[in-house]
Amino acid sequence: MVGGARRTSHALWGALALAWPSVGLADGAAATEVASYQAPLPPTPVSKTSPASRWASLSGSQCWAETARRKLGVTRVKGAATGVALPVRVTGPIEGVKFLTPGKKSPYGILDCRLALALADLAIVLKRHDVVQVQVDNMYRPRAHLPGKKKPSQHSYGLAIDLTRVKRADGTELVVERDFQGAIGEPVCGVSARAELSDDASALRNLICDVARSGTFHHILTPNHDAAHRDHFHLDIARGARQRIIE
Ligand SMILES: [Zn+2]
Repeated sequence: MVGGARRTSHALWGALALAWPSVGLADGAAATEVASYQAPLPPTPVSKTSPASRWASLSGSQCWAETARRKLGVTRVKGAATGVALPVRVTGPIEGVKFLTPGKKSPYGILDCRLALALADLAIVLKRHDVVQVQVDNMYRPRAHLPGKKKPSQHSYGLAIDLTRVKRADGTELVVERDFQGAIGEPVCGVSARAELSDDASALRNLICDVARSGTFHHILTPNHDAAHRDHFHLDIARGARQRIIE
């Protein structure tokens, strides 16, 4: 098994080397190859200069300026959303990707401005995978807590997003609940991740592991995390977080 994993790993490094120059290209320059989910992940400690940490620590004025400069399709929410420092709603495409969010009257469609910048980075990764549309289940959930704990969830600050499905340019969809082929406790990415997956499951893994590699979020939870995540990906940024986790 170890030998097999090593061989796979070498083959993947080759693929990774081919795919690497495409990373960071301006939007519109869609890559034809992306790294496999089985390619190794970077170490889990994150630096203060990682995208997730940079966005999480922005001030309000910095965030408003950056969303305007990048022409992100978000609009400030009038009135308060308790717990959300810089509330906005999605009102247009973000870096060319359509985020379908809960409607005008739902708090679930509210997010913090700083999460919007992380979503812009996410969109750039999604485009490498031909994704044009994302279905969002919720972002802000008032007073949301971690399961069974007093600690607030990043959803309570509008700094987390739950995604249930993505649509590609050819109209095909990847649905987390249907296509992920998860197993609780198994590694999602890297050489120890499960090798036998359907094409759609591999595509979904390649996508979420590429997002993890991009350093855009601190925490990514998949159906491999627990039963509560069987039907969505949870992604969040957290001020002061020291680790990048995908599980
Ligand atoms: Zn979540």
